[in-house]
Amino acid sequence: MKAHVDKDTCIGCGLCPSICPDVFSMDDDGKAVAIEGDVPSEHEDGAKEGEESCPVNAIEVE
Ligand code: SF4
Repeated sequence: MKAHVDKDTCIGCGLCPSICPDVFSMDDDGKAVAIEGDVPSEHEDGAKEGEESCPVNAIEVE
């Protein structure tokens, strides 16, 4: 599984890193960023929860 944040859509609310800080963090530009490469299996549920919780649907996990 990989996670991706569309920075053009992200409003920088900070929710996803608070839900799953092992996958999402806030970048210097105030937008969220996901870890590069595969999401570790133990964090897949957190990544999905972040995707479902984002208020502007900026997160894609697949
Ligand atoms: S939850 Fe969505 S809008 Fe909020 S910081 Fe994460 S990607 Fe951006």
